[in-house]
Amino acid sequence: MDDQRLYIDGAWVEAQDGETFATIDPATGEEIARVARARAGDADRAIAAARRAFDEGRWSAVPPRERAALLRRIAHRLHTEADELARLESRDAGKLLADAREDVEEAAEMFDHYAGLATSEGGEVPPPGPDAMSLVVPEPVGVAALITPWNFPLLMAAQKVAPALAAGCTAILKPAEQTPLSALELARIAAEEGLPDGVLNVLTGFGPEAGAPLVEDPRVDAVSFTGSEAVGRVIGRVAAETFKRTTLELGGKSPNLVFADADFEAAIEGSALGVFFHQGQVCSAGSRVLVEQTIYDTAVEALCAQAAELRLGHPADPETTMGPLISAEHRAKVNSYLEHGRADGARLAHMGTVPTDPKLANGFFFPPVIFADVDNTMRIAREEIFGPVMAVIPFGDEDEAIAIANDTPYGLAAAVWTTDVKRAVRVSRAIRAGVVWVNDSQPAPVEAPWGGFKASGVGRELGRYGLRAFQELKQIYLNLE
Ligand code: NAP
Repeated sequence: MDDQRLYIDGAWVEAQDGETFATIDPATGEEIARVARARAGDADRAIAAARRAFDEGRWSAVPPRERAALLRRIAHRLHTEADELARLESRDAGKLLADAREDVEEAAEMFDHYAGLATSEGGEVPPPGPDAMSLVVPEPVGVAALITPWNFPLLMAAQKVAPALAAGCTAILKPAEQTPLSALELARIAAEEGLPDGVLNVLTGFGPEAGAPLVEDPRVDAVSFTGSEAVGRVIGRVAAETFKRTTLELGGKSPNLVFADADFEAAIEGSALGVFFHQGQVCSAGSRVLVEQTIYDTAVEALCAQAAELRLGHPADPETTMGPLISAEHRAKVNSYLEHGRADGARLAHMGTVPTDPKLANGFFFPPVIFADVDNTMRIAREEIFGPVMAVIPFGDEDEAIAIANDTPYGLAAAVWTTDVKRAVRVSRAIRAGVVWVNDSQPAPVEAPWGGFKASGVGRELGRYGLRAFQELKQIYLNLE
């Protein structure tokens, strides 16, 4: 693949100092492409371009109907180019091709959805009196920095770019260094569909070099960040210095509660999917599986049997059900939890095998792992591993299950498996998390709010809630006397 450039002010440009870095195929360890490595000078150019585009009204002054039409054209292009985009994403992120295909479709849906909201989300208040009126005018917040992680590269980009553009903002997108390619494709499509210069800029590079300057700069009005708790903490603090509107979508250690009255097979299948989907590299992974004592032994056995069916291999092979981790560095981190689990006294109930195909010898594969008899105080139950490592924890009754579920610094998601509807609602209400699934795991409909309680973040994405992050509400009071 050709060298990839930055996209700034409607032009494809090299980094100012001409530096590049490699983006790697996690399944083979091979270099896919060299990508421009943006630093502070490039960030400065991108911010200036986005600021100018905003201040000149190149996009904010475009009527919402026309903005919506352009978003729909982007959605259409994502649909029509879905095969190529999915192949690229699968290669860059080590995603199963089928999952990457779904991500592209969901990204398209995101643009369609926000096209609808661009023309339908206003504000209204009753007139304050007979001789006065208040108008509520949603206005774009301005220049937005959009910083995304590597686990759902195109989808996370779409989740931020679509509402930012729908609101009339201009934006600078900083994709993760491991997965820069689909963000550049999105910019290409948007440009080809007529998005004015400077409205969407893409800076590829490393967080501290290309991302941090966006968060510090007073010309940037909003930051929408998805990534780790550690980086989110820094971003939240730095962004507050210049009073940026800030959305933080961070990590989790989500509980998955299996009650004895659950549909057993569905619960086992869903619990396994909840932690092994995309190799566990999912913010909402249900990595703590809490099982009621009376079905505990059978459930552990069934979970292990489920994990044993996973087939690790090349992400493009239709037989593969689990691909590689994103990088060697990340694999080393995930691997360190095997030792923590053992040292803390958990029982290693299952450990799969990595592929033997010599073509994949340099890939970053890691086997599915199940630790049973885990205590919620152990590191494997407290820290986000972001890999295919399940911690199974027994519980005695509903109150204990809720207490364990909530005993975590995080609060992104939870799953509750039960056939008792009253219990489903009771437990869902008691869990301190932004998303609770009942008899399911991992769906994230575009219309519904997504985000975390506690250390899992600040603010909400998706649906109309996601649009608000990119809007300021203005009240105009009319004295009609
Ligand atoms: P990360 O290391 O925090 O990186 C996220 C993004 O921030 C990357 O683009 C990164 O750039 C950039 N970055 C790093 N340091 C920065 C700094 N000082 N200033 C500005 N930007 C900086 O997270 P990750 O490893 O990519 O992603 C995994 C994490 O994301 C997990 O914790 C997961 O739970 C979370 N996540 C949350 C959600 C959610 O919806 N809540 C969704 C997906 C993922 P570089 O990578 O180039 O350094």
